[in-house]
Amino acid sequence: MSEQVVTRIAPSPTGEMHIGTARTALFNWLFARGRGGKFLLRIEDTDRARSTPEATDAILRGMDWLGLDYDEEPYSQYARADRHAEVAREMLDNGHAYKCFATQEEIQAFRDEAHAAGKSTLFRSPWRDADPATHPDTPYVIRVKAPLEGETVIDDKVQGKVTIRNDQLDDMVILRSDGSPTYMLAVVVDDHDMGVTHVIRGDDHLNNAARQMTIYRAMGWPLPVYAHIPLIFGPDGKKLSKRHGATGVAEYQLMGYPAAGMRNYLARLGWAHGDDEFFTDDQAKAWFDLDGINKAPARFDFKKLANICG
Ligand code: GLU
Repeated sequence: MSEQVVTRIAPSPTGEMHIGTARTALFNWLFARGRGGKFLLRIEDTDRARSTPEATDAILRGMDWLGLDYDEEPYSQYARADRHAEVAREMLDNGHAYKCFATQEEIQAFRDEAHAAGKSTLFRSPWRDADPATHPDTPYVIRVKAPLEGETVIDDKVQGKVTIRNDQLDDMVILRSDGSPTYMLAVVVDDHDMGVTHVIRGDDHLNNAARQMTIYRAMGWPLPVYAHIPLIFGPDGKKLSKRHGATGVAEYQLMGYPAAGMRNYLARLGWAHGDDEFFTDDQAKAWFDLDGINKAPARFDFKKLANICG
């Protein structure tokens, strides 16, 4: 029996709900709903300085308006910080992570020296293989031990096989000196604990996938299926921004656009089913597949959206 599909949308609540987030949510929703799977909403509010309750509200309202119903209560990533820290300690115990006592000044000095010598400025901590008996009594961060040699291959459903040289991966910080987890750790722990089988998200996270895979491997957890979708561009081929027009979901709601038309238009942004321009939700759920996602960036066309919704 094949396992149940579980997808998620994991927005950071730092501003309005962007059209791009809506499109990613829609793809995850269609993929799960068409397969009898689960679709989760996780508010990635780990970054306390940038997260706001207003932005969380905007996401909840946007999901509601768009009719993208999710299973279970929305998760707060921040609320799970203890669990993230627990995993960091487990990685420490099993030798896949280490305490790094390097100060910001030392790290900067390392980078300056490497730069002057024409070498890679990726920080290589002297604490990676240090004997715990030599550890000072000063604050430390926990870093993952990234592989030093070989390659990491992301088998991506949209991008194909993407190869990253391991000497380009640094020993990223997973737990800060104040005991708080970094985003990189939190995402992996949450996706694993929530049983997420398919990670469908913007391709600005493609490099993160290689780094996140280090954590999956260290924990012996199965990897999710990755599908990194190209970002949305404006009609002029540049990254979609306010210059082009309304980029927030709430603005379209205010302007009176129908949610069904938005879903129809957003589904076609980077995905196609033959030449079909209009379809029902049931058709989209039945037809949507990762293979049909375009590798080239989608262009947001305000006129087309108005036509579909008009
Ligand atoms: N929180 C991330 C963002 O808003 C998404 C992370 C993910 O989908 O893995 O860009």
